[in-house]
Amino acid sequence: MRFSSPPKPDLCKAIFLDRDGVINHDPGDYTRSIEEFSILPTALEALRILAEKGYIFILITNQGGIAKGIYSHDAVHEIHNHLRNLCNENGTPLTDIYYSPHHEITGLSLSRKPGSMMVERAIARYNINPAESWMIGDKQRDLDCASVLGVQGVLIPTNGALIDYIHSLV
Ligand SMILES: [Mg+2]
Repeated sequence: MRFSSPPKPDLCKAIFLDRDGVINHDPGDYTRSIEEFSILPTALEALRILAEKGYIFILITNQGGIAKGIYSHDAVHEIHNHLRNLCNENGTPLTDIYYSPHHEITGLSLSRKPGSMMVERAIARYNINPAESWMIGDKQRDLDCASVLGVQGVLIPTNGALIDYIHSLV
């Protein structure tokens, strides 16, 4: 008797994106509501350039303000629905969004960056090749959560022009 295994789906390459200070303006503490959420000027154009190169997009964001009681899961969902719509209209849909609601003040979590759990889940679920993928963030912990899995990183200044930092990726 012969067995044949199903063909393996092709690996894809991903851009893992931090949210605050990379996609939207980070005012310095928390983005609490949709009213405080504003897309940075070059972010959507940068995503279009990256999409043309065949990357998918995964948002990876710490939202420790939830653990602190500053805002709710619902407020985060409202922001993320809005962001998904913007990205869809831009022709650069977000394949998925992972957020960690935890913070050290209420307990340790493997998902909160620099923990790697969110990126690990995305790699497994979407069959992502880490070696061809990148993490873009404005804090070292953003890069650390992915580098441990073999994902290269790009560190940008908080609220910097994303488009100026993607040349090494394309
Ligand atoms: Mg950030």
